[in-house]
Amino acid sequence: MNHEEAARKLGVDPASLTPAPAAPRFTETWARMQQEPPCSACGQPSRTSGVVRDLAHRPRWLDRCRDCFLATPPILRRPLSQAITDIREAAAEVGLRAVLHTDEDGWQDELSG
Ligand SMILES: [Zn+2]
Repeated sequence: MNHEEAARKLGVDPASLTPAPAAPRFTETWARMQQEPPCSACGQPSRTSGVVRDLAHRPRWLDRCRDCFLATPPILRRPLSQAITDIREAAAEVGLRAVLHTDEDGWQDELSG
């Protein structure tokens, strides 16, 4: 799901979020993630940040802790099996072994390559 759908599912009112740049560069998003602001939904330290955009509000940061992120996973642009293959191939190209924890229902079983 996208950030707007994630905010709705988590019951986060975009009006309560911190204003964000309209199109933050990766370095801006990374800098925010390094600060570990409280999760927008539950207040735990966040692990990921993104921007919510809707017509009623200016862009706002949506910060999610691990559990809230896993409850609102992003949409994969390709089938999960292809995404796993791509990650393994990318890891192998740089000499790393990828250990992924996922299944079709979301992040439960371990796959390793
Ligand atoms: Zn949370």
